[in-house]
Amino acid sequence: MIPYGRQQITPEDEAAVLAVLRSDWLTQGPKVPEFEAAVTRATGAAHGVAVNSATSALHIACLALGLGPGDLMWTSPVTFVASANVGRLCGAEVDFVDIDAETFNICPRALEAKLATAAQAGRLPKVLMPVHMCGQSADMARIGALARRYGVRVIEDASHAIGARLGERPVGDCARSDICVFSFHPVKIVTTAEGGVATTNDAMLAAAMARLRSHGVTRDSALMTEPSHGPWYYQQIELGLNYRMTELQAALGVSQMARLADVVARRTALADAYDAALAGLPLRRPGRLEQAQSSWHLYVVRVAAERRRAVFEALRADGIGVNVHYIPVHLQPWWRAQGFGPGDFPVAEAYYAGAISIPLYAGLSDEDQARVVAALGRALA
Ligand SMILES: *Cc1c(COP(=O)(O)O)cnc(C)c1O
Repeated sequence: MIPYGRQQITPEDEAAVLAVLRSDWLTQGPKVPEFEAAVTRATGAAHGVAVNSATSALHIACLALGLGPGDLMWTSPVTFVASANVGRLCGAEVDFVDIDAETFNICPRALEAKLATAAQAGRLPKVLMPVHMCGQSADMARIGALARRYGVRVIEDASHAIGARLGERPVGDCARSDICVFSFHPVKIVTTAEGGVATTNDAMLAAAMARLRSHGVTRDSALMTEPSHGPWYYQQIELGLNYRMTELQAALGVSQMARLADVVARRTALADAYDAALAGLPLRRPGRLEQAQSSWHLYVVRVAAERRRAVFEALRADGIGVNVHYIPVHLQPWWRAQGFGPGDFPVAEAYYAGAISIPLYAGLSDEDQARVVAALGRALA
């Protein structure tokens, strides 16, 4: 079976992790800051805060922006459930903005209309969370401008998009957002097994997220309510969590980040090859936003809704490990119980009805890619 995604682990990666195991620090040592620096170097952001997953990073990003009960958060319905869940975990209400049918990202026109209505009703969101679906940036020029106009804070869910660019800007430089979050789960672009990083240009937000990942505890005497009792002294000044990344994960991340450009170049070459090879088939290839250079986490084709299940099952039977990203969040039972249902976000639902993610990862060989193309041809014949 050719999987839809797969991590790439080199002998250098193995050596990096083994060296940590033989060192004094398994957690809270030098590797986590080194990994954070690798991510800020790649993205151009001023600060990076590494945690044990992107879900954790999204959660502390929302907390750092003060999202709480009585507030609203908006995100895309076409995402992994974690994007929406973190808003509710903060006690906020969550709503969705429908997607653009070609890019699968939040539609700026739908956002503009929804913001205008919300402003009239006095129900503007505190936080907007665009998702860079498949590794292609959402239209951040337009989304960022709208957010500024309405005073909405922005957290980019860039779980798919480390190494992506929009024009000259790397995703994660936070030029049009407050915070940007990356995932390092094994199916994503590069991995720490589990892990996430939040980037920001705001030193206060970075410090707040660094406290929230470690119990809300500080050793900064400037933040304390009384003079230090001595060198051992710390204070808990907020309600925080243990979302820390281990040194093992960070060492793997440092080693993986050194290959980021090569990995994204290979994924891009494979995506371009799919675009060319699939041109004659009865399917829709992913749409591209002008100026966006995707990191190509996923390559999603869309087939006629009536044929999707049969095509999917034929591909699986043919040894092609296809998948579907994503079942719209608002159609999940937990979210239906919050009042959402079919018809709420029709573009997202139409997207889901035809979507199939086909194999795409740095280690996919040209021969295996040709097998995928041939199998798709047979399944659609
Ligand atoms: C993978 C993913 C997450 C969660 O990432 P973890 O690191 O597994 O917590 C969140 N949002 C999106 C869009 C994702 O693809």
